[in-house]
Amino acid sequence: KEELNIIQGALELRTKTVEDVLTPLQDCFMLSLDALLDFSTMSDIMQSGYTRIPVYENALSNIVDILFVKDLAFVDPDDCTPLKTITQFYKHPLHCVFHDTKLDAMLEEFKKGKSHLAIVQRVNNEGEGDPFYEVMGIVTLEDVIEEIIKSEILDE
Ligand code: ADP
Repeated sequence: KEELNIIQGALELRTKTVEDVLTPLQDCFMLSLDALLDFSTMSDIMQSGYTRIPVYENALSNIVDILFVKDLAFVDPDDCTPLKTITQFYKHPLHCVFHDTKLDAMLEEFKKGKSHLAIVQRVNNEGEGDPFYEVMGIVTLEDVIEEIIKSEILDE
């Protein structure tokens, strides 16, 4: 029974897109680029439990960097280090994909190992103005794997 589920999940990778499995922007735990890594911010980060945290500038939809929790290993909350100092030091590349990327293609991208988190965007050409890239949310390798095994992976 379970094997059958997995086979079906694997077959659906060709038709489902990242839009079907993403975590919407409003549900993402993110940090503002001008945040200070003081005790309160560092506790929030630890309590969120996430390993990668998108960093935005001015507006939530303007993601400019990713903070890895392991980047904080040498940061002392008493120093109130600006987040910008850390992101500029590590400069993790941002990985963007379009909302209609099929899950099999996304899995291949993740397997290449650059990053296991991608920012999902679409072209918004509704309304009067010029079309623009709109960030919809984030997708990780775990979201794709959950689609294959058809069940939630509970976090530690
Ligand atoms: P982690 O290693 O941080 O637990 P995973 O890659 O295992 O993250 O993803 C687990 C789930 O959490 C996925 O559904 C993913 O979309 C979501 N997720 C990952 N990072 C964040 C974040 N910063 N804010 C909100 N959701 C996130």
